[in-house]
Amino acid sequence: MKIPKINLLPQPETEEAKDAVGYEWNEVAGTRHFLGGQPDDLAESDFPTCPDCSNRMTFYAQIDSIGDKYDLADCMVIHNFVCFDCFTVTAQLTQTRE
Ligand SMILES: [Zn+2]
Repeated sequence: MKIPKINLLPQPETEEAKDAVGYEWNEVAGTRHFLGGQPDDLAESDFPTCPDCSNRMTFYAQIDSIGDKYDLADCMVIHNFVCFDCFTVTAQLTQTRE
């Protein structure tokens, strides 16, 4: 199954949250959040199989590092996958080229 790409935009509401979003030296990192579509720098052949039923999992969302203060190992992103057969969810960290 493939979900169409739906961009997600962070909406920090407090000063503390606003300070947490983004990077001083990287304009792109911290903005790469979306549902569906194609995960950055991860081929479909590398999508995980479901740990419960062994079916190929569907890419569900990419969640970026938040910013300098809450960085994921040098601007890595979290790729979330769901099995639409048994609704098991997995996530993995992926290093992107940008
Ligand atoms: Zn499954």
